[in-house]
Amino acid sequence: MEIKKGIAVSPGIFIGKLLIIDSEDYRIPKRTIKPSQRMVEVQRARNAFKDAADDLTHLEAKQNDITQQKIKDIFAVHLRFLKDRSLRKKVTDMINEDSVTAEYAVSNVLREVASLFVKAKDAYISERAADIYDIERRLLRQLLGSKREDLDHLTEKVAVVARELSPTQTAGFNKEFVKAMATDAGGRTSHTAIVARSLGIPAVVALEDLTEVVSGTDMIIVDGNRGIVIVNPDEVTIDQYNEYLREFQEFGHKLDTIREKPAVTRDDVKITLLGNIEFPDEAEFVLERGGDGIGLYRTEFLYLNSEDEPTEEDHYEAYAETVAAFEHRPVIIRTFDLGADKYTQKKRFAPEPNPFLGLRSIRFCLQNLDMFKTQLHAVLRASVLGQVKIMFPLITNIQELMQTKMILRDVMEDLDEDSIPYNRNIEIGIMIETPSAALTASTLARDVDFFSIGTNDLTQYTLAVDRGNELVSTLYSSVDPAVLRLIRTVIQDAHKTQIALSVCGEMASEPEYIMLLLGMGVRTISLAPPMIPEIKQIIRSVTIADCNNVARKTLGMNSERQISSYLRDVTRKILPEAF
Ligand code: PEP
Ligand code: MG
Repeated sequence: MEIKKGIAVSPGIFIGKLLIIDSEDYRIPKRTIKPSQRMVEVQRARNAFKDAADDLTHLEAKQNDITQQKIKDIFAVHLRFLKDRSLRKKVTDMINEDSVTAEYAVSNVLREVASLFVKAKDAYISERAADIYDIERRLLRQLLGSKREDLDHLTEKVAVVARELSPTQTAGFNKEFVKAMATDAGGRTSHTAIVARSLGIPAVVALEDLTEVVSGTDMIIVDGNRGIVIVNPDEVTIDQYNEYLREFQEFGHKLDTIREKPAVTRDDVKITLLGNIEFPDEAEFVLERGGDGIGLYRTEFLYLNSEDEPTEEDHYEAYAETVAAFEHRPVIIRTFDLGADKYTQKKRFAPEPNPFLGLRSIRFCLQNLDMFKTQLHAVLRASVLGQVKIMFPLITNIQELMQTKMILRDVMEDLDEDSIPYNRNIEIGIMIETPSAALTASTLARDVDFFSIGTNDLTQYTLAVDRGNELVSTLYSSVDPAVLRLIRTVIQDAHKTQIALSVCGEMASEPEYIMLLLGMGVRTISLAPPMIPEIKQIIRSVTIADCNNVARKTLGMNSERQISSYLRDVTRKILPEAF
């Protein structure tokens, strides 16, 4: 039995089997196997060499043009390596001698060969190291490809274990069988955390080297309440966890009863609870959990989920499906938030040195106008189907907002020319997720109908802490005094200008931050759908006077640690089961 401590990012408990997902982009961790599995791994390695060579021969045959001779030469070099018996033997020997997976042996042996090439004095030879890395990737693609098939053909519930999960990977998960996530990397608002919360499954991140200590046949407990993962638990631990699981389920049933009840405080102040979604089929779930609409539809998942750029019809169908579920309730469609950790199909191959400070989000859209206008067309067409609002992410200054609105007007004119109906008065909002937007909120507020505070990014940009990097995850907190001061400024400016305001970052899904947000004047929040009942329960247990008091005290404190522990204590008294 091995116990690993990480960060709890989505509540719940899973006890069962696991599935390890590696990625060809990372160094494959060393994972030992049982002696009885060696034969299987050796065969997998041999098949990978053969299949990669077959693929390459096939590709080579297609390059007929004489101008493609260079490519043919490269393929010939790769083929020679793939057919090299001594290389293959090194890999299979390593599997047999060290009892490691085929992936690890391939990666290790080829990287060793590449490092010998790099050291060579002859420039021609040292440049061949790039070919070796290419061959490594080809082989890993074969090996991991079969794992992907495993993931597509799951027949029992599993916890997915990975070094890190990309949005593209999680978008493809079969929700019926993926029932927990545990990753080496990641932070509180990393992508794994957001997806796990929206699926309502337990997740623990920042486990550092979990992928190196597990094997595919292990049993695992993922405790998303305490931030613990236990590999091969003993009987006593399993019994204890079955008991925790029972208590957790009981708490869930208790909350079921408040689903139909309104989110009003004890002194009768109505709070609007909206859901954050990534796919249209989650819309129903928001309703089921008692949500009043959609406060954040992360549309970029339409892109991440498929190999091709979505057409206008793809957009339209997804929006129409979502709006249909909500009739006259609001659906806030956020335009593409691509870049940074959410790459387009093309961009994945051209990473930027500082992607979170790079061509992401609205900046990416403003440089890819065809793609952006296609989306705007579809949003506007869907606007006649219900109460659709449009929201632009990562606006950092007024020029960007003006430019974006100008493009929206262009698209409206196109629709007018084609006599396509749309809501001319569609509400336009922006996310406030950078300090520059927060500090100029009073200016930005004059040109929009609403703000939504994206605390995930606002926290990362204010504190200079990468939201997905486990090495600095203890420094990441949305209740750091610096972040709270910016949030307060935005709320005050929205109130002064009399525009609507909501909070849609993960902060709004955290039970211990709700009283603070209400006390700071927030009346609309958008959160992970599974958390709606719990948050509603807190709202129904407090008065605004209580919340004002909590906010006053919190804003008078100077240290994040003091604030966090104070908020946890206050909330624990109201809803002890949430901790
Ligand atoms: C945010 O930044 O708070 C937000 C809600 O957007 P995302 O998590 O999609 O970046
Ligand atoms: Mg954001």
